Amino acid sequence: MRARIHRGAHEIGGNCIEVESAGSRLLLDLGWPLDLPLDADLPLPDVAGLADADPSLVGVVITHPHLDHYGLARKVRAAVPLYVGEAAHRIMREAAFFTGTGLTVEPAGFLRHREPFTLGPFTITPWLIDHSAFDSYSILVEADGRRLFYTGDVRAHGRKPGTFLELLSEPPANVDVLVMEGTNIRPGADVGERAVTETEIENACVETFDATSGMVLAIFSPQNIDRLVTMYRAAIRSGRDLVLDLYGAAVAAATGRETIPQASWERVRIYLPNSQRTKVIQSGEFHRTDAVRPRRIYAEELRERSGKLVTIFRTSMTREMEKIGCLADAHAVWSMWPGYLQEPSGEKLKAFLDRLGIGMTIHHASGHAAIPDLQRFVAAVAPGKVVPIHSSAADRFPEFVPGVELHGDGEWWNVG
Ligand SMILES: [Zn+2]
Repeated sequence: MRARIHRGAHEIGGNCIEVESAGSRLLLDLGWPLDLPLDADLPLPDVAGLADADPSLVGVVITHPHLDHYGLARKVRAAVPLYVGEAAHRIMREAAFFTGTGLTVEPAGFLRHREPFTLGPFTITPWLIDHSAFDSYSILVEADGRRLFYTGDVRAHGRKPGTFLELLSEPPANVDVLVMEGTNIRPGADVGERAVTETEIENACVETFDATSGMVLAIFSPQNIDRLVTMYRAAIRSGRDLVLDLYGAAVAAATGRETIPQASWERVRIYLPNSQRTKVIQSGEFHRTDAVRPRRIYAEELRERSGKLVTIFRTSMTREMEKIGCLADAHAVWSMWPGYLQEPSGEKLKAFLDRLGIGMTIHHASGHAAIPDLQRFVAAVAPGKVVPIHSSAADRFPEFVPGVELHGDGEWWNVG
C-alpha cells in the first residue's frame, strides 16, 4: 500500500489523500482550501477516475461535513462511490439549501462507528470522533497487511470526549502510518497551551448572558452542533429562551438526535429572517416553514421579551433586527474562529454593532485537539510513523511527537 497527500501537507484545509493498493485507489477527503474564495475555479486534484471514467478509483470517503474536507466532492463524476456519515450527509444537504455550499450527491453508503466495510482491496473502519462538525470520523484503511490511520479532524475537549477516550483506550492495533491533523501545531504554538473546553464556554456564556439586560445576539455556525447545545444550555441557565433561524432548526433536525435542541422544544423558538423566507418562497419548499409554524417568533415578541432571549445572529440579519427595534441594551457573543472577524463580513458586522453601541464578547473553543491531546493520541496508537497534515507548521511536528516523516503534496510514499 502506498499513499500521497494531494493537498494539506503544508496548510490547514483542502485535505485530500490518495491511497493505492494492488492497482486500486481510494480517496480520503476532497476538501476546499480555506484561503480560496468559494466561487474560485479550482480544478480537481490529479487523480484518475475523478473526472474521467476509471474503475480503479474505488471510492471517496469524506470524514466530516466541513468544506475543507468535502468542498471539491461536488465536482466528482456521479458514478464514483461516495461514503460519509448519515447525519453528516443530511447536514450537508441542509447547507446546500441554505448556504449554497453543502453537497447534494447521494452517497453509496454511510460511515458507522467501528463497522468495517470493503472497497476493492481496502477494508475501511470509521471511528466516530469528537470534533466541531457533527458525525465526524477518523478512518482506518487496511490493505496488503498494512494499516493507515487518518485522524480526520479531532479534539478531546468538545461534548463527545468519550469518543476520543475510547480511541485512546482501544486504539486500532499495528498501525503503520498515522496521518495526523495538527491545526494547533502552529508557527508560534507552545506545548503548554491547553484547550478551552465546551463546558468552559458554556459557563462563560452564562456569565455574559446574566450581565446583559437586553437581547443576546449569538453569532455561531449552526453546523457546530456542540456549540448549539452550549448556547441552549447557557440560555436556559440564565432564564432565557433560544431563538434559532430556519437553518439552525433544519441542521438540528438533520442530526436525527432527540437530545439535540429541536424546534419542537418548549424553550426553543424559530425566527425566519427575510433571506430565508425568500429562499423558501423561491424554492417552493413550504414544508420547511410549515414544520416550525407553531414555534415561530415574530417582531413584537422579539421586542417585548428581548431580555429573555438568546437569538442566533448573522451579518445578513442586521438591517431587519434594527428595524424590528429589539436591540436596546443588546450584547453580542462571537462564538466562531476570531479570524473571521477580520474578513469583510466580520468587519461589516463589527461596524454595525459599533454604530448601535452594542458590545461584543468572544467565547469560542477550538474544533481541534491541543498539542498534549495530539501527544496522547500518538502515544495510544503507537504508529510506525506519523505523517503530518492540516497544519501550518508541519515541520514542527518532530518537536512534539516521535516518528514523524514529512511528505509534501503530490509525493507518493509507502505505508509501512
Ligand atoms: Zn473539520
